[in-house]
Amino acid sequence: MRALAVSPTKRSIEVIDIPEQKIEHDREVKLRVLEVGICGTDREIAHFQYGNPPAGSDYLVLGHEGLAEVVEVGSAVSEFAPGDLAVPLVRHPCPHSWCGPCRMDRSDFCISGDFIERGIKEEHGFMRSYLTERPEYLAKVPETLREVAVLTEPLTIAEKAFGQVRQVLERLPWFPEAERSQPLKIKGDSRALVVGAGPMGLLGAMRLRLAGYRTFVYSLEPPESLNARLAVEAECEYISAKACELQQLERKVEHIDLVYEATGVSKIAFGLMKYLGENGILILTGVPALGKPIPVDADLIMRNLVLRNQLIFGTVNAGREDHEKALANLGIFQERWPRVLPSMIAGRFSLDSVRELLERKPPGIKHVVQPG
Ligand SMILES: [Zn+2]
Ligand SMILES: [Zn+2]
Repeated sequence: MRALAVSPTKRSIEVIDIPEQKIEHDREVKLRVLEVGICGTDREIAHFQYGNPPAGSDYLVLGHEGLAEVVEVGSAVSEFAPGDLAVPLVRHPCPHSWCGPCRMDRSDFCISGDFIERGIKEEHGFMRSYLTERPEYLAKVPETLREVAVLTEPLTIAEKAFGQVRQVLERLPWFPEAERSQPLKIKGDSRALVVGAGPMGLLGAMRLRLAGYRTFVYSLEPPESLNARLAVEAECEYISAKACELQQLERKVEHIDLVYEATGVSKIAFGLMKYLGENGILILTGVPALGKPIPVDADLIMRNLVLRNQLIFGTVNAGREDHEKALANLGIFQERWPRVLPSMIAGRFSLDSVRELLERKPPGIKHVVQPG
């Protein structure tokens, strides 16, 4: 079968022929890969800045935002049947008995660093026709989400982040219990600022809007861009960074209760901390490239963190329950804003176009590969 392979040693990206996987254990599921989303992580791997092939392989099959269809199940699999749709989980746990998170099925909080990630770290990804996987690492997708479920993985990042916000809000008991549970209804006028209007930013903004935040999206694209229009369609308010400097944001948003950073630009993340309000939360999901140290207003930031009870946290990957929540919420997004998710998908491309898509990002928000 054909697969899109990146070889860090040969510094090559090419479509290669690899053996088709077969079910070898009774607890395995064979899947035909339907769609794979491309993101910034794939581009970093394709530029050999990131990514490790599995042990014994000199290449890594790319792709970690997958949607697949079950074609065959092992004799001890009762959770799935041929024809079912599934999103395969990216991360698999490390082997260490002392890693509490992995032993408790939360490898997204792994403390050893020896986890593996499909399409990223020491395990082949989804840009190939078929794969086998254990049912524990598959999230079942309702047929109604067939057209948009390729967006599940990027939404799981927002779900995990938001799950932690819910726990943090436990410290604010004046939010009644019912309003702290899913979907969260924020009392009064809580305001969230999402930085970045790419797939991560837009999905994060939709999630926050669903939770009841008055949500602002701040990004480079002009107000007439598709990104901006989709943010508005999802009942968010769009602020173009071209027309509004960071210092002017505070006046526009008035008070910021939560920032969801989805660009990985450290200057903006730390610059925004000055404007975070009382009991504010700053969530970092973007990963910056390492550069030279930058000046930050450290005294003011630290004063605010203390005097305003603020919290800042980073979050990566997501657990099984975040996948289930992401799938449930994709369904709600589809009902509430039916044009937004389909419009985020810029096009569906063959395996042969991936190299070009990785090298030169064409216009549009999310590019999807159909490897079959
Ligand atoms: Zn990704
Ligand atoms: Zn671990």
